This record gives sequence, C-alpha cells and structure tokens, in this order.
Amino acid sequence: MPFDEVVVAEKNIPKAGVMGWPVGHSLSPRLHSFWLQAYGIDGVYEALAVAPEELPSALRSLEEKGFCGVNLTLPHKIAALGLMDALDPAARRIGAVNLVSIDEKGELRGSNTDAFGFEQNLLSSGFQPNGGAAFVLGAGGASRAVLIALQNMGFTEIRIANRTRERAEILARDLTTAACKISVIDWENAPQALNEIALLVNATSLGMEGQEALDFPIHDLPQDAAVTDIVYAPLETDLLRRAKARGHKAVDGLGMLLHQARPSFKAFFGRDPEVTDDLRRAVLKGAKEC
Ligand code: NAP
Repeated sequence: MPFDEVVVAEKNIPKAGVMGWPVGHSLSPRLHSFWLQAYGIDGVYEALAVAPEELPSALRSLEEKGFCGVNLTLPHKIAALGLMDALDPAARRIGAVNLVSIDEKGELRGSNTDAFGFEQNLLSSGFQPNGGAAFVLGAGGASRAVLIALQNMGFTEIRIANRTRERAEILARDLTTAACKISVIDWENAPQALNEIALLVNATSLGMEGQEALDFPIHDLPQDAAVTDIVYAPLETDLLRRAKARGHKAVDGLGMLLHQARPSFKAFFGRDPEVTDDLRRAVLKGAKEC
C-alpha cells in the first residue's frame, strides 16, 4: 500500500509494517502475520511502498498515523541512518537501520537486527563456536552484519575474500578489534586459505536463483568445519549440498531471515516469537509465490 494512503489506525491495535521501494517482494508481512495469528495478537503488519524521496516525511508521520514502528528494506536502510533521533550500537556499527521504533517521547530509534539473526540461526542449529577461525566470502551489505555476528560469537580470527578486494579491505579496517583480527585474502587464493577454519560463510549473492553459481572448491576445508550460506533461495545452495556430501554441518540462510525478525516483532507486539518449522514452511511458500 502506498504510505500516503494509510489511514490512521484504531487506537489500541498495534500497527507496524515494512517500508521499501519496491516492497511487494518483502517476506516480512507474511512472517509477522504468521506470528500475529499464531499468538492470537490483535495487530497489523503491512507492506508500505515509500519512494526514497518520501522516506523522511514518512518516518516523521509514523506516530501520527498510529504506527508503533517499522522495518526498513532496500533502498532505505542506509538513508535512514541520518533520519533517526538515536541509533543503537548495532545500527551504528553495521551502518544500516532495519528496525525503527518510536520511544515514549515520540523519538525515532534505529536498530539493526541482521547480526542477531545470523548468530541466532547458527546457534539454534547446534553450531558451537569452539575457537578456530571463520572464513567469509563476500563484502557487500550483508557481510558487515555477518562479521559483527562472528565477533559477537567470540571468533578471534576472521578471513575475508571478495571479488573486489577493496571492499573487503574497508570492512577489515573498520571492524578489526583488539579481540578479533580480520585479514583479507585474494578472491583467487581463497580456496587454498581454509586451514584451521571452523566456519565457512557464503555472504555473496552467488548461488542465488538467477545468479551465477558459487564456484568455490572446499576440499581443503577441515573436516570438522561447519558451512553456512546466507542465500536462502534456493534453500539448499550448491555450496551447502557439496558441504553435506563431504560430511560438514551445513546451515541454510532462511533461519537468518526469520531470526532477524524476532526483535522487531518483540518491539512492535511485545512478544519474543519462536522460529518453528511451520513458520519456515509458510515463509518458503511465500518466497516461491513472489
Ligand atoms: P550486495 O551488497 O549486493 O553484495 C553482493 C556480494 O556478492 C558482494 O560481495 C559481491 O562482490 C559479490 N558478488 C556478486 N556477484 C559476484 C560475482 N559474479 N563473483 C564474485 N562475487 C560476486 O548484497 P548483500 O545485501 O550483501 O546480499 C548478499 C546475499 O545475501 C544476497 O543473495 C541476499 O539475498 C542474501 N541475504 C540474505 C539475508 C538473510 O537473512 N538470509 C540477509 C541479507 C542478505 P563485489 O563486491 O565484488 O561486487
């Protein structure tokens, strides 16, 4: 629905949504509606079409239109940084906002839940970080959240490779800490730099439906390493299929999408929701219909 056609919500019914341009492909309405129904919460979550030039006024009129907050998707996540009254540390560090909530003073608070989603997806799969290094392929928007999640999980060494090396260098420079060294590996040499790796992450868009395949040999990956792909369409990417065939623990990317929505649902509707198999099925069905 175009945001300027949104009518003022009935009082007492919590109302939220996702702003994007375009926004029709977003799986968030399906996800939040599933939880609203599952928990019997009388709330509303809508897809809101907001053109880039309308974002400042749309955010400023949220409270007046009865919203308790919104999620942001492309192309608004970075532009929103400068439109918030306050940013939480994750939004500041990741450099993007995907959750806007309105506090008791009516001020806009920007958060980012992508690192949380990545970490929770891995932990809920049973993966336990036990030392060793992580290897991340890709240095795009999602990769920054992945690196921060890996640091939160206690990895002390991360190697990163990206086709465009400079983008990986910027991430390594911005995010290296005293507790976690991030080193950049040439894209061409990456398959030979997997020694002592405990976790391999594909954070590129390669392997996604409609994109080129990820041509990345994993025969040098230590046998006890886990592999995760943040691409979730297809659910089992070629990388995950090859990892499973070699006996590695393989974690798909759908859970990241589902877990990153949990803090938003809690902020809007007051309950930390569960990621269940029924939810996975409902969202996958939605992804196929898009
Ligand atoms: P992005 O900012 O566009 O970054 C794309 C990344 O893929 C860059 O590292 C890019 O390298 C690399 N890449 C693209 N084409 C390539 C090629 N032909 N050869 C080598 N590298 C290539 O995208 P993003 O936002 O980071 O998202 C990446 C993927 O993650 C997408 O498939 C997205 O759907 C998925 N994602 C999933 C979740 C989730 O919740 N599971 C969340 C966010 C994103 P260059 O820098 O060299 O261009």
